[in-house]
Amino acid sequence: MICNKCGSEVDKDKKYCDKCGSKIETNIKCRHCGEPNDLGSVFCSKCGKKITNEEDKNIKIIKRVAVISIILVILVSIFAVIVFSIYFASSVSACTKNCVEGCQTMG
Ligand SMILES: [Zn+2]
Ligand SMILES: [Zn+2]
Repeated sequence: MICNKCGSEVDKDKKYCDKCGSKIETNIKCRHCGEPNDLGSVFCSKCGKKITNEEDKNIKIIKRVAVISIILVILVSIFAVIVFSIYFASSVSACTKNCVEGCQTMG
């Protein structure tokens, strides 16, 4: 059994997901007549219309792409901060070194 909300594996006899606490649906409601059908059914047993929503799949893909792009942006900004801090630190230490040397030569 897969949790509808977080997608984690849940034991068959469990009624609630131990990862996110949401109720595990053992049936899927028909979008057209509201008849509860077995989870994984493609067509409604009452009205015969298609239950599975292909739009949901697209939304899931869009969400995944959005999450991946957010992670990428975060990684790039972290990388930029690291590069900038290394560059800044090295330039500061170089400056301090120059200043100390300058002072020593002057003093
Ligand atoms: Zn869950
Ligand atoms: Zn139906």
